[in-house]
Amino acid sequence: MWLITFSIDRHYNRNQDLVWIPFVIIQVVISTICGILIKKLHQQVYTDVLTGLRNRRYFCAKLPELTSKAPVSLILMDIDNFKSINDTYGHIAGDQVLQQFAGILQSNTRKTDIIARIGGEEFAIILPQTDVKKAFKIANRIRTAVENHLFSYENITCKITVSVGIASIKKGTSVDQFLKITDEALYKAKEKKNFIVMVAEG
Ligand code: GH3
Ligand code: MG
Ligand code: MG
Repeated sequence: MWLITFSIDRHYNRNQDLVWIPFVIIQVVISTICGILIKKLHQQVYTDVLTGLRNRRYFCAKLPELTSKAPVSLILMDIDNFKSINDTYGHIAGDQVLQQFAGILQSNTRKTDIIARIGGEEFAIILPQTDVKKAFKIANRIRTAVENHLFSYENITCKITVSVGIASIKKGTSVDQFLKITDEALYKAKEKKNFIVMVAEG
């Protein structure tokens, strides 16, 4: 663009500096539009379409970065008996429950926390600079809010519960280890359901 401007200027308007202006404006407009499109694309690539939360791709990209800045906590959640919601009320009602569940996660976390839908009815929250006690408080607030919430869609209402695994690490733990211990905590919580199991490392 600059090359074209420069050539035109040299060719036709040796003494008129103003010929640069429209080209500069065009370039600014094109750059701004490109910037907006790239930002939108970035958002789409990293957003879960159903809930508007971050998706698994974002979670996988962000976890290593935040693990290296430990202390950090990770919460993994799995909605209990979710298949029966679909079986009883239909898939669309199930989708509505997932959307309302996402709303509960958003209203019970902080701006710095990263909330992602990492599977069908599985969610994760990365809590930077948060110890296991604080993470437990947040997780329990979510668990209680979910338990008490009346999920509704058209004339259908239903209740659900969620099981939660929490792990907190200090510096030096690998991402794989971090995920493994949190997943094991969730697995244990699943044995009881509507339950939280936490692990603190280091
Ligand atoms: P558990 O307590 O052991 O977790 O049982 P569950 O029924 O929650 O788990 P299971 O893995 O048996 O079933 C998960 C269900 O989640 C099955 C699947 O149809 C449903 N599901 C996954 N993704 C979506 C989705 O995007 N929308 C809806 N409506 N349902 C979904
Ligand atoms: Mg599951
Ligand atoms: Mg489940």
